[in-house]
Amino acid sequence: MASSGKDFTSGPSKRGPTGKKNASCSFCRKSYREVGPLVEGPDDVYVCGECVELCQSILDQERRRRGTPHKLFTKVPTPRDIVSHLDNYVVGQDHTKKVLAVAVHNHYKRLMLNTEADNEVEIEKSNVLMIGPTGSGKTLLAKTLAKFLQVPFAIGDATTLTEAGYVGEDVENLLLKLLHSCDFDIEAAQRGIVFIDEIDKIGKTSSNVSITRDVSGEGVQQALLKMLEGTVANVPPQGGRKHPEQQYIQVDTTNILFICGGTFVGLEDIVARRLGRKMIGFGQDNAAFDNKERRHDVIHDTNVEDILEFGLIPELVGRLPVLTTLSKLSETDLVHVLTEPKNALVRQYQKFFEMEESHLEVTPEAIREIAKIAIQKDTGARGLRSVIESAMFDILFDLPEQEAGKKYVLTPEIVRGQARLFPRDDSAAA
Ligand code: ADP
Repeated sequence: MASSGKDFTSGPSKRGPTGKKNASCSFCRKSYREVGPLVEGPDDVYVCGECVELCQSILDQERRRRGTPHKLFTKVPTPRDIVSHLDNYVVGQDHTKKVLAVAVHNHYKRLMLNTEADNEVEIEKSNVLMIGPTGSGKTLLAKTLAKFLQVPFAIGDATTLTEAGYVGEDVENLLLKLLHSCDFDIEAAQRGIVFIDEIDKIGKTSSNVSITRDVSGEGVQQALLKMLEGTVANVPPQGGRKHPEQQYIQVDTTNILFICGGTFVGLEDIVARRLGRKMIGFGQDNAAFDNKERRHDVIHDTNVEDILEFGLIPELVGRLPVLTTLSKLSETDLVHVLTEPKNALVRQYQKFFEMEESHLEVTPEAIREIAKIAIQKDTGARGLRSVIESAMFDILFDLPEQEAGKKYVLTPEIVRGQARLFPRDDSAAA
């Protein structure tokens, strides 16, 4: 939009029929006779009603496009506040919740401090590395955090990343997702959180037999490294490399908090080996690690050397100074996952039934059965939905045509597929 840069401090005045007969709008050049009354500014500048309306709609559009600007924090929630919010949505993982809460609190405190003028000591950020089995809540924790803090959030998958120039995604595309999440408000994106899943899959592996280049291993780690550390990245606004002519958006990643997650399958063997060696040194029996449950526990003893041995490069591990491990969810944990969180699966299905004006009751035994089957699948809480879904599939198909006001009771037999879910004739919906 053109701007005359005029000084309106004396106030614009209306130019009516008695004013200069040949005055015209300085924006559209139409004369006073064509467009009616003009508003006069200093130095013979005029604007007509049509141009004022046009300017207004341009400004409105621009405001809508940018969205409401994300304000900088005035008060950062305490670690205790953060943990108690996470407790509403995530079952267990108490230690990780605390670690994340402290990291996030310090990160945003640091941002506030660094925006003030007298910052002699610049505090460096603490990106987080979360290690835990599939379906233990890594993504859920990161997502819930970002929502609570009202900062832009993006999830990326390290396995899709390749070195620039190869088929796959560039590391910068993670930042593009972040920009998308806040409608391209660069300021906000630069204070956002990026969750990079499957970080363990880009480790350099001994099985990589490529005689040319390791396109998805160490090269990607190097590219990620720069981003995690803080760099001004050139983000292609449309993603990919199909539009070489596009202008890049520059995003400074210095204040973006990176949370990386991975299952690190096999890491427990590395840890067990190290601990075993030590224990043998103390005359202990190494057989303790043959116990399966104990193997899961040793993951909590992970240290930096183990991760290096696993295959992440030292520089990358160095940029992820906060390390936390998540536990495998037990059967009892899964029972809690099914019933306790604000948007627990059982509640979601009960809501479906309510929408069809029916009522669903899930017996405690059925809940335990669902958890048991999910444990056998070994996909943590991820497996729960498919177990419930297959038990309910037939009734969800029929429900909209069923008589309203009926009560349905989900039992362990139905969960095991030995019976079907029918309305109970004896009882009306609660
Ligand atoms: P991952 O650890 O593989 O990233 P996710 O966080 O994506 O696992 O979990 C998948 C789904 O399982 C989530 O959407 C959530 O519904 C459920 N879930 C996993 N862990 C938990 C947990 N600790 N508490 C509550 N729900 C969980």
